[in-house]
Amino acid sequence: MSDRTAKDVIGLDRDDLAALLAKIGEKPFRVKQLWHWLYHQGATDFSLMTSLGKNLRQSLQGGFIAGRPEIARDQQSVDGTRKWLLGFDDGNEAETVYIPDMDEEGGALCVSTQVGCTLTCRFCHTGTQLLVRNLEPHEILGQFMAARDALGEWPTPTDATRKISNVVVMGMGEPLFNYDALKKALLILMDNEGLAMSRRRITVSTSGVVPMIPKLGEETGVNLAISLHAVTDDLRDRIMPINKKYPLAQLMNACRNYPGLSNARRITFEYLMLKGLNDSLADAKELLRLVKDIPAKFNLIPFNPWPGAPFETPSLDSVKRFSDYLFEQGYSAPIRRPRGQDILAACGQLRSESVRERQSLAKARREAGILEEPHAPASSD
Ligand code: SAH
Ligand code: SF4
Repeated sequence: MSDRTAKDVIGLDRDDLAALLAKIGEKPFRVKQLWHWLYHQGATDFSLMTSLGKNLRQSLQGGFIAGRPEIARDQQSVDGTRKWLLGFDDGNEAETVYIPDMDEEGGALCVSTQVGCTLTCRFCHTGTQLLVRNLEPHEILGQFMAARDALGEWPTPTDATRKISNVVVMGMGEPLFNYDALKKALLILMDNEGLAMSRRRITVSTSGVVPMIPKLGEETGVNLAISLHAVTDDLRDRIMPINKKYPLAQLMNACRNYPGLSNARRITFEYLMLKGLNDSLADAKELLRLVKDIPAKFNLIPFNPWPGAPFETPSLDSVKRFSDYLFEQGYSAPIRRPRGQDILAACGQLRSESVRERQSLAKARREAGILEEPHAPASSD
């Protein structure tokens, strides 16, 4: 756990670091050196940053830290998936999951952007947890850095040998409701002289916060994934409250205009399959009609159950039928195998114990602009 009186330099961008160094009487060229230690070497001990000069090392040691979230729990699944429960300075927690590729080297790190979520998608375990707060840039970035620590992945390796080859912002929370912090973290993550993740290897998933979608594309250039899950407003309204504010037509329009799309760079439409609700061939046909003029690929996710969830997983046969149909029509539509189920690390199963009272949830929802009739979120414990 970090020293709470010290200021964390992780999450500061180059301009912030320049301002900080100027304040303690250091020259701007030191930014590049410090950056290299923090983000290329992954160093946390200022006294070992030999190129910085003795005075600067001492000043940094006196008032600053290069912090990491605390690993409160580290679980490993039989399939190699690893889930960390990370604790932040104020005692809140969020989960980060590492999913190694089955056949190749490398793997994806799934990071969280909020503690809990203001949205209450009916199928999502995170959605049953009352939002506590947005994560700050150093906490979003800290998940990546803590995972690199745990996997022994410093200094930043070249692309070919990376254990964390991809980052998916698909953990707890709605990333586009915490856009400023997300953007800052992503820009640091993509910096070539540091953590050096290519924007092509980063995917942000949103439930459909339409006004923020163009900004994400223009300002970060990362890949976009949409949690679509339904092909009619009627069903989407029922399972994803955000659809009432930004219905399908608006969402598809934002997708159509996402910057930089091509056949080589498609939007991923995540499609959660719920037995008897959205798993028929008629649904598959309607899905293709919706994405007709958008470079698209699909990710079919059979519903991952959690205790008390009000849905069922469709049979493998019906998921396959759906997938085959999309393939026949020329689309990539793999079925996402649930990973790390034994440690509740699969999509929609993340949840930390941080909760806050319902009043604050209602307030957070109002701030997020989500108007919906009151309902009691399903409880899992
Ligand atoms: N809030 C963002 C980012 C979280 S991504 C979003 O919703 O896109 C988490 C992904 O897991 C989303 O596609 C979500 O819809 C999906 N998911 C949620 N609950 C699930 C469940 N029980 N089974 C399978 N996938 C689920
Ligand atoms: Fe929030 Fe995404 Fe879960 Fe919906 S699916 S409740 S937006 S984390």
